[in-house]
Amino acid sequence: MSQAEVFDPTVYLNGEWGPLSEARIPVLDRGFIFGDGVYEVVPLYAQAEGARLPFRLAQHFARLNRSLGKIRIDNPFDDAGWRALIDRVIDDNAGAGDALVYIQVTRGVAKRRGHAFPAGLTPTVFIMLSKIAFPSTEERARGAVAVTAEDKRWLHCDIKSVSLLGNVLMAQHAAENDALETIQLRDGLLTEGSSSNVWIVKNGTLLGAPRGPRILEGIRYGLIEELAREAGIAFEERDITEAELRSADEIMISSATKEVMPITTLDGKSVGGGRPGPVYAALFEAYQRAKTREFAAEAARAK
Ligand code: PMP
Repeated sequence: MSQAEVFDPTVYLNGEWGPLSEARIPVLDRGFIFGDGVYEVVPLYAQAEGARLPFRLAQHFARLNRSLGKIRIDNPFDDAGWRALIDRVIDDNAGAGDALVYIQVTRGVAKRRGHAFPAGLTPTVFIMLSKIAFPSTEERARGAVAVTAEDKRWLHCDIKSVSLLGNVLMAQHAAENDALETIQLRDGLLTEGSSSNVWIVKNGTLLGAPRGPRILEGIRYGLIEELAREAGIAFEERDITEAELRSADEIMISSATKEVMPITTLDGKSVGGGRPGPVYAALFEAYQRAKTREFAAEAARAK
């Protein structure tokens, strides 16, 4: 790609709008020094008429608010304030194709490096649009490869923290094993992927690991629960043992950028028949219908 073709999106940083390549933060920003901040990733879907629409935006704002509350940063905006910024980042980066909005809030810039947080800091707020490609029909038909590893992260995985070293190492483990995702186990129980929630199917029942401090509750967690109900699939939120994972009829992951994606190989062994299963297919269909419904409501709002 020539230099001229590099996408240099217009980003928001602390009240200013400008090119990503020129955005700067002070080195004493606590996000840089301590990973002291939280983030969100909202998917944006390209529409036929050229607009890009967010999916489940209200739920992303609610989770951002929860993450901020858990680390005691005052939310710098209400939902309407966030929405105005998201609308602008979409408008200022108009173009073809699907995308995501990345939002990061850190505790702000301290005067000196010290672990405990100083009072009265102004949070740093950064918003960026990135282009992405959702999995293709071929990738979905094939299903993805996953590997397992011991979950060695801290026990506040419910906070969508930018302190992602544990997740980074797990994503690298997947990459080095030609896998899409690393599925983590803690004390013999399934937790989640490096950047996804994990679901298994046993005798037609969909199982998800319990919400709580060991996993991030994906925006797709509640959604998949709703979609399962709509599709008449039994759902249980409960501990899932390593043996259950390894003998699952189906395994799938969910995230903003993968939607729901079948895992057809786990640690080199095929899952189910090595093909995406019927529960995955039903959830994927229901997911697409949920998008259509929400985009109709979004389009009505825009009028
Ligand atoms: N768990 C982790 C650790 C993640 O990073 C993600 C992706 N943000 C998820 C689960 C799935 O969350 P969501 O459905 O909101 O993308």
